[in-house]
Amino acid sequence: MQYIELVEFYELIEATTKRLEMTDFLVNLFKHTPGEVIDKVVYLTQGKLYPDFVGIEMGMAEKMALRALAATTGDSPDEVEEELKTKGDIGLAAESLLKAKKQVTLSRKELLVQDVYDALDKLAKTSGAGSVDAKVRALSGLLADAEPVEAKYIMRTITGKMRLGIADMTILDALAQAFADKEARDEIERAYNHTSDMGDVALTLSKKGIEGIKKYHARVGRPIRMMLAQRMESAGEILEKLGRAICEWKYDGERIQIHKLGNKISLFSRRLENITEQYPDIAALARQNLKVEEAIIEGECVAVDSDTGAMLPFQELMHRRRKYGIEEAVKEFPANIYLFDALLIEGEDLTEKPLSQRREILKKAIKEVNGFRLSDALFSSNVKEIEGYFENAIENGCEGLMMKGEDSTYQAGARGWLWIKLKRSYQSKMIEPIDVVIVGAFMGRGKRSGSYGALLVATYDHEKDVFPTISKLGSGFTDEDLKSLPEILMPYKLKHKHARVESTLEADVWFTPAFVIEVIGDELTLSPIHTCAFNRIREDAGIAIRFPRFTRRWRKDKAPEDATTVEEVLDMYNAQLKKIG
Ligand code: AMP
Repeated sequence: MQYIELVEFYELIEATTKRLEMTDFLVNLFKHTPGEVIDKVVYLTQGKLYPDFVGIEMGMAEKMALRALAATTGDSPDEVEEELKTKGDIGLAAESLLKAKKQVTLSRKELLVQDVYDALDKLAKTSGAGSVDAKVRALSGLLADAEPVEAKYIMRTITGKMRLGIADMTILDALAQAFADKEARDEIERAYNHTSDMGDVALTLSKKGIEGIKKYHARVGRPIRMMLAQRMESAGEILEKLGRAICEWKYDGERIQIHKLGNKISLFSRRLENITEQYPDIAALARQNLKVEEAIIEGECVAVDSDTGAMLPFQELMHRRRKYGIEEAVKEFPANIYLFDALLIEGEDLTEKPLSQRREILKKAIKEVNGFRLSDALFSSNVKEIEGYFENAIENGCEGLMMKGEDSTYQAGARGWLWIKLKRSYQSKMIEPIDVVIVGAFMGRGKRSGSYGALLVATYDHEKDVFPTISKLGSGFTDEDLKSLPEILMPYKLKHKHARVESTLEADVWFTPAFVIEVIGDELTLSPIHTCAFNRIREDAGIAIRFPRFTRRWRKDKAPEDATTVEEVLDMYNAQLKKIG
């Protein structure tokens, strides 16, 4: 197939704004394309050379592409720049300059689709020292063989600016019409959703027809397009849709699909990029603790505090999305993964099995260790119970809950009503620190073993003259602070909880309320665990601090009764309440 034939279809597609017309052109293109290059035609039409997960990207810098153009046409770099400014598009600039070309090539040859593909492929894979000149020469050579209109699309493709505006769904429509019938459309989409490889779907269709597509199934190494969720406002509404639900904490991190074959682990992001190199720690955990030979499983990766293991907000995890200094980043910004689905185990595609079974299979396939665990989940159809669970999730740094139908299948690539997220519509920003009394402590682990890992802190209830808890506080302490804490608090140590302390949590060590410190957090949230302002905003819920941090101000000047009062906390909660989108 000649490249000019493909380009003629592009010209038609570019000229239309109607989706149906665009689909018709694509159908004709696919029918016209010989089987052996159909996959390449599909990728090129999407402005790529490979499916995204392969990770080979075009995107030559515009400057470099212009240098190649100048070398072909004999124009000066300034003239080429000027043309780009006038036309506003590198493809149009190339087309017009080639039309008016000053240098004549003697041996132009006809370009085949395969030639252009191979040349672009080589360009995309060339890197390292001296590669710039080699790339400029290679592109210039390709342009010398191109018709002006071919150059238009070559330049757009190589700079990553193809932009024909064809959605995946339109390509699927066209493939169905070209190679099967309308009824086969769903089957073709399913195949695509299970492998994320449009070129391979097209190749299979053209070679084996719809029967080949029916046999198409997920394979390790090709990411499955991830199932997404709808959103609703209340647990009650969601239960009406789902019946009994598996309610999982909705972690505030990054979705990761883990693929394992023997010792080889690949990690894919929600956008299907291969992110294995960014998360060597997660890959290692999976290698050691995924006890099967072959698997595709999913989870959410979350940044955690290196000292306390507490979950941190999403922004912290983004420090991990970098190309260099990954080893340091792994140490500085450790992450955990919470697993929630199994899509393929030992060759068996599980996507049609009910979620409750998939979760069981997942549980058996892994060894749970620190940093590599199943997601926290509650099987329930009780609104009140779910609400308490929701508040607990928020307080622990989650965004809310993911409620999933117990019998739901895994619908690759779909945003359906089988998974429904429950997020907050209000949040109460915490803009001022508060003063709290230390009433208990929890023993530390790891680096903190032998000392306290977190303190249990309380507010003051003026009316009842008691100290209801508001937070488990583990962040913001220096190593010295931690070392000195047991000594500082020694005089106040008790054998059991102090009579004036109200707590549902069982601390490892209890203290007489005496020592006041200052703490700040991101938000005040409702909590089923802490007793500050219990039942005052909502039944069975108190108020807690989300992402609490010690400000390092020891308020030795304050008596325990001078700690921030419950009424003050309530005022802060109400005053800072904001609707969130
Ligand atoms: P959203 O991005 O708001 O549409 O929510 C969907 C995202 O929530 C998923 O893509 C995951 O990254 C994330 N998530 C966090 N926890 C879970 C969970 N337990 N189950 C499924 N997705 C989760």
